[in-house]
This record gives sequence, structure tokens and C-alpha cells, in this order.
Amino acid sequence: MTLGPDLPELFRCERQGARLTVPACARMWRSARETRPAPWESRHHCLGCPVGAGNAGEKVETVALGAEEWRLVCCRCLRRAERLIHRKFCVSCFNRDREARIGRNAKGQTPRLVARLRPISIVVPQAGAVRTVTEARVLGAWEIMVAIARQATGPVAFGAAPGSLAAQPVQAQSAPD
Ligand SMILES: [Zn+2]
Repeated sequence: MTLGPDLPELFRCERQGARLTVPACARMWRSARETRPAPWESRHHCLGCPVGAGNAGEKVETVALGAEEWRLVCCRCLRRAERLIHRKFCVSCFNRDREARIGRNAKGQTPRLVARLRPISIVVPQAGAVRTVTEARVLGAWEIMVAIARQATGPVAFGAAPGSLAAQPVQAQSAPD
């Protein structure tokens, strides 16, 4: 579908919270794919947008859409964050993690997080083989899964590393403070 720029037909873009013409939407979506926009640019909302892909007349694979969604999520608290530090943590989780690493929080106390971080391994079947991914200091396997999912170029599956479930007592998990 091609509309001339002289046709002021607008639709509501939920991501940008604005009314756009189809050509403007398509232009922004293409531009966001060519040069990755910074989080503060309005084009940042176009990343992985299925509406934009449709308006640009392109099919975007569902895997790519899924991976793009995970790119904007903090690995630890799973909240959507405009800015991720080291492509991993939201600002809050990064600060808590840093306190845990040095063993002191702003009050000079040992953060509770210290006792909850542990090494975890998961297995990832890929192309007929299985690779083991280990992270030394995570709250749960989901941190590793999100990190892998956001780079996925195809369907991904996860498994527990052999022996890892038996070795760890089941504990109630709660979101980090
Ligand atoms: Zn977070």
C-alpha cells in the first residue's frame, strides 16, 4: 500500500503515543532498522514494531520481533528499561549488583543480595549440539535465558544442566529490592 505524502490520513501509533501517516511510520521504521536509534530518540519505539514493518511492506520474522522485545528488558528484574547498563541491567539492578559485588550498600551494611547470588548453569540445545552456559553470580536461570533470548536469531530452547536441579534446594524466589 502506498499513500502519497499529500494524503493526510493518520493512524494512532500506540508506541509513540502520536498520530502518524503511514508513509511517516514506514520511513521511521526503516530508518530505525538501518541505524539503531538511541533510547531517547522517538525512532527507538520503532524497533521490532510489527505495525511499522507492515506499513513498510516488510515481513519481520517473529523470532526477530521476540529478540527485539527482550533487548529492552532487564535480565534480573525483567522490567522494561529504556536504558540497560552493560546491555544487561536496569539502573537499579546495576546499582544493587555493584553493592553486592563490593559487599556494602549505601548504609555500610552487607546487602541481602550477596547471599542470594549463586552460580547457575543451563544447557542450550542448538544446531544438533548442546552447549552449557554458566554465570557465576545470578539470582536465577532466567537471567541467563533473557541474555540468550535477546540475541536469538532462531528458536531457542533451554534445559537444566545435568545435576544442577538436584544440587540446589528449591527456594522461594522473589523479585530483587
Ligand atoms: Zn532490573
